Amino acid sequence: MGQGTQLPVVNHYTAYKAKPFTRAQRKDVTILYGGLTWKHERLIQGALRNLKYNAEPLPNIQREDLDAGKEMIDVGACSPTIFTTGNLVNFLKKEAAKHGKEEVNRKYVYVTAGACGPCRFGQYHESYSMALDGLGLRDFRMLLMAQDELDQGENGGSGLEVNMSLMLGLVWAALCADLLGDLEYLIRPYEVTPGQTEKVLKQSVEYLYELFLNRPSRGEKYGALAWHLTTNYFTKALREVRKMWDTIEVDRLRVKPKVKITGEFWLQTHEGDGNYNIKRWLEQENSEVIPPAVAVWFDYLMHPLIHRMEHRHAYARHPKAMQFTLKLAERLYAATYNRLRRALASLPNELPDQAELARLAEPFFHFELRGGEGHMLIGKALYVYHHKKAHMVCELSPYSCMPNTMSIGAMANVLGKYPDLLYAPIEVKGDSDVHALSRCQMILTEAKRRAQTEFDDALRSTGLTIDKIRQYEVEHPELRKATYRVPHQGRAGSAANYVLHLASARGLGK
Ligand code: SF4
Repeated sequence: MGQGTQLPVVNHYTAYKAKPFTRAQRKDVTILYGGLTWKHERLIQGALRNLKYNAEPLPNIQREDLDAGKEMIDVGACSPTIFTTGNLVNFLKKEAAKHGKEEVNRKYVYVTAGACGPCRFGQYHESYSMALDGLGLRDFRMLLMAQDELDQGENGGSGLEVNMSLMLGLVWAALCADLLGDLEYLIRPYEVTPGQTEKVLKQSVEYLYELFLNRPSRGEKYGALAWHLTTNYFTKALREVRKMWDTIEVDRLRVKPKVKITGEFWLQTHEGDGNYNIKRWLEQENSEVIPPAVAVWFDYLMHPLIHRMEHRHAYARHPKAMQFTLKLAERLYAATYNRLRRALASLPNELPDQAELARLAEPFFHFELRGGEGHMLIGKALYVYHHKKAHMVCELSPYSCMPNTMSIGAMANVLGKYPDLLYAPIEVKGDSDVHALSRCQMILTEAKRRAQTEFDDALRSTGLTIDKIRQYEVEHPELRKATYRVPHQGRAGSAANYVLHLASARGLGK
């Protein structure tokens, strides 16, 4: 190269690096977050405000968020990435139009879960940063919280401290919201007065919001953990919540197919346009929905390490001690969830055994294939099938999602072995609801037929009639309370289980 030749200026790619969010800024900055249901987000808000953070969930996902996301990030992204990016973009755009970009950079930080991984989840923040660039908000602060560590110290400055107290607040808030969600979906299809479940649900969420807002401080380390595991602070409150649900009258003789929702984490958890509001749609189609619990995901995060230790696929200096500790943690987690469930009369669903999910899925999907929900999609479908917990499985698969594509492929093999498993894989692009819902409807028709047959068989085998049951209910009004627990009798449908329960526990029938 001759003397005086100018080298071209190269602008190397630099990854997004958040500007610090300092402790001194805490009182003037609002933490934005999202991605769960409104129930989870409200309780999480209580937990964050309890630790003196200003916190606001992003508005619930709308159809316009898909368009905004498509404009801003690469078109091959999976639909949850597009929706969530668009959701943040639309919020920031509105705020910037009202208050200016400088004010948006100063006033907000966005906190999102982070992870490395084989799928888009490991790159969500890259999509967000691409969108922030496009909006001219390169200085906007976005913080990542690793989803599998309870204590991560200061995150991007000392404004947000990801310590034990914060993480326990978030986890307990998510567990309580899951339990309320289970009650909601279990009871609403059978409520006698339309809208009553919704009303009680809102009251319960606000009651628990106050509970998290006033959560006593027990330090930032293991003292906080010990307190959360042993206190009756949460169970006492949940017993009060149960009294609120006592007031709802239900008609358990409505025959409805039960639909288990599975799929990609965000898509299955979400309630809104991001998944065509499919849970509400299924209820309108006269079904009962089993919603996915975030609690199952937490359990799943813990389990791979246990499995790898058992199969000697992971290194630890003291493998036996490590294995013991992990198993103890898993047991304590399940015991905590069950304690909370019991405070709600054990009405919410129990956590499935992770070892069983892995064992059921094993012939079809290798346990160590990570990404998305991994083997759990197949494990859950077979779990509800074998335990007769649902008539059909509706798997929500995001458009352009690699892990879900693998799971749907493997399900073809599962269906070859279990041809009577009713399975509806719904690909969600966000803008083709008629196609997706009509596909679901086809399988639902058969599920309805099975629910009716199961109910008729239950009546026949017990010799009961609807009139006789109605008459008995008049004499025993507790049966029509939403919180009366009908134990599982080996049938998928709630109405069939109810009939069999009346025959076995109440001596009705032949
Ligand atoms: S699991 Fe699928 S939808 Fe979810 S982040 Fe990964 S690629 Fe996207």
